[in-house]
Amino acid sequence: MKYFDAHLHVVSPDILLNAQGQGVRRFIVNATSPADWDQVDRLSKSVLGVYYCYGVHPWYVGNAPDDWAIRLEERLKSDQNAMVGEIGLDKMRPAYEKQKQFFLRQLQLAEKYDRAVHVHCVRAWDDILAFLSEFRDLSVLFHRFSGDEIVVQKCRFLNAYFSVLNAASIRVIPDNRLLVESDAPDGLGSPEKIPALVRQLQLDPDYLDQNFDRFFYDR
Ligand SMILES: [Zn+2]
Repeated sequence: MKYFDAHLHVVSPDILLNAQGQGVRRFIVNATSPADWDQVDRLSKSVLGVYYCYGVHPWYVGNAPDDWAIRLEERLKSDQNAMVGEIGLDKMRPAYEKQKQFFLRQLQLAEKYDRAVHVHCVRAWDDILAFLSEFRDLSVLFHRFSGDEIVVQKCRFLNAYFSVLNAASIRVIPDNRLLVESDAPDGLGSPEKIPALVRQLQLDPDYLDQNFDRFFYDR
């Protein structure tokens, strides 16, 4: 069986190699701030099957360096495989206005360089959807999706995919838009857990794998 992990962060290469031993072949590694962009780059070069993103997570907008957007643009310009993530809005965290500025700027860069975005949303669906309505051509992966069917309906104007690490929101997600993730090193802790998650959710790994391909190649 082939599996993927649609969302995780920087972990040691050994963890990815162990997961490969369990059949997990592809990994989407998200950055959180410029401080880990070089680590994302190194990981992508040291293990096969690593897809990767650069961005500033809403939790870390407070200590991003002033030139973060220039540096992000340089990465996107010089590497056409780089995506934009993890970005988003989180109403439970400080600096919400600043989060919005960062989110908008990163959506603009993703649009300019035609890259998918990997989105974190906590209690901010109205604002997230209002921003995204201006960027209808983007492919969007909502990670640890926690919305309801109304949110899913409202995402129809986007090329949107929804990634989960438990059964909580799975019922409202269209089958052909569903992905799975570990969110390691938090979440499930390791991408090694993905095959067990897929079994627990009673999903077909081949079907999921086609969703993953479509997210990347059918745009
Ligand atoms: Zn994450």
